[in-house]
Amino acid sequence: MKYCKYHPLTPANYYCDPCDIDLCEQCVDEGQYAEYAHCFLCEKNVNANIGGGHQVEAFWHRFDKSFRYPLNVGTIIFIVGLSILMTVATFIPFAWVIQLALSGALFKYSFSCLEKTASGMLLAPDISDAYGDGSSLMLRLLVIFLLIIGSVVGLNIYFQSTLILVISSSLAVVFMPAVFIIFALEDNILAAINPLKQFKLISAIGLPYTLLLIIILIMSASVGLINELIGGDFSFVSLALQSMAGNYYTIVLFHIMGYMIYQYHYELGFAVSENNAERVKARNDVTRLLSKIKIMIKEGRYDKALTLFAKGASDYPEDNHLNYEFFKFLLGKKSHEDIERYAPVYLKSLSRNDQTYKLMLSYQRLLDVNASYFPDSAELRFSIAQACQENGDLATVVKLINGMHKTFPEFKDLIPAYELMARALDELPERKKQAAQCREFIKHLEKNIDAIKPRKKVTPEVKNTTPQPAWYESDLKISLVSLDEEK
Ligand SMILES: [Zn+2]
Ligand SMILES: [Zn+2]
Repeated sequence: MKYCKYHPLTPANYYCDPCDIDLCEQCVDEGQYAEYAHCFLCEKNVNANIGGGHQVEAFWHRFDKSFRYPLNVGTIIFIVGLSILMTVATFIPFAWVIQLALSGALFKYSFSCLEKTASGMLLAPDISDAYGDGSSLMLRLLVIFLLIIGSVVGLNIYFQSTLILVISSSLAVVFMPAVFIIFALEDNILAAINPLKQFKLISAIGLPYTLLLIIILIMSASVGLINELIGGDFSFVSLALQSMAGNYYTIVLFHIMGYMIYQYHYELGFAVSENNAERVKARNDVTRLLSKIKIMIKEGRYDKALTLFAKGASDYPEDNHLNYEFFKFLLGKKSHEDIERYAPVYLKSLSRNDQTYKLMLSYQRLLDVNASYFPDSAELRFSIAQACQENGDLATVVKLINGMHKTFPEFKDLIPAYELMARALDELPERKKQAAQCREFIKHLEKNIDAIKPRKKVTPEVKNTTPQPAWYESDLKISLVSLDEEK
């Protein structure tokens, strides 16, 4: 068995030829509609792994699923509508053309179920697969029937023996599903009635093939049972119900036959083409993007991963999981430049979602990697400071707010920010004096808040002649260094 290059414990369902790697379901891009799986690295289509890597559930373990196969709105409407029309047609004399067309539609759809299931699509196809002219299909099926019946009769005439008649007609019944399967796959009458091909198919499947025959037997018996239960009459209702059961069983049966091909594709040498089996729905865009990014990281292509993360962060700014993965990546990559540029994305998302404890921890983790990291927006500095205050990291509150009026003179919450800092100083040991200074400073701010605001707006010439308030340039006498040293 082959395993995924990136998940060594997961069987690989796919193989990428250009990259020469085996991949699991998670590590291929199924596209937006789960249509064609392709490789995240080279973007070429991947092949289903025909080498036993595929873990296919045995068909006898999923009879319940097989019987649910037609149970979707489209297929049920198709079965019911078709059955009613077929029953109506039996009451019209000489309506065999209509009957033929209706059966043609049923077989067209059933063959489509078989083919699609065989290639790994486990959802019933759209009923538009039944449209179009089914009569040529019906005629070819009739030719096959006639050829088989003809050969049984021919053998009987030639040998004149009851034993031969019994053996040949039993064989015809036994081989019939194989005939259908081969016809569906090869679309060729001669191939379908070729006993060698049938024998090869049956021997590849082995004993489980008899299970299929038993199912067919049970199904035909139960259609008869409906008639018995209703009282053996040939009323419209009874006939319509029998027809519905028959049509439903036909679709289930063709699905099971298709599944047998799918399950034994390796033994049969049948290529399970384009795609994937059990994944019925495409994953969402973010999940697929993350799978791609993880592969890039495992391949050591960190720059590519960074580009993808940056694009994802701008396309899906509200996706918390993506933001978190991006943040972890930045911590691991340890590039100061990237951290300064992209770390605020995650910090801001935490702030928006009021995850204050995580916000404080994440900021601490950033400082572990890049001790000089300082958020470059006043809003973010203030919200981290609030988070730190709530969670008891008071020294960091002071570090974040101190000097903020110089860097961000226009920040609208300057006063609340310094009030926060004053409260932090209150609680820090031996910082009463600084707390008082800070409150003095707030008073200055309150009085002069309008004086500092226009500062940025003045033109260069005016700026030279306008003196700043004296207190403005004097920073608070609380230096970060002294806080750290005394600790
Ligand atoms: Zn994988
Ligand atoms: Zn590839």
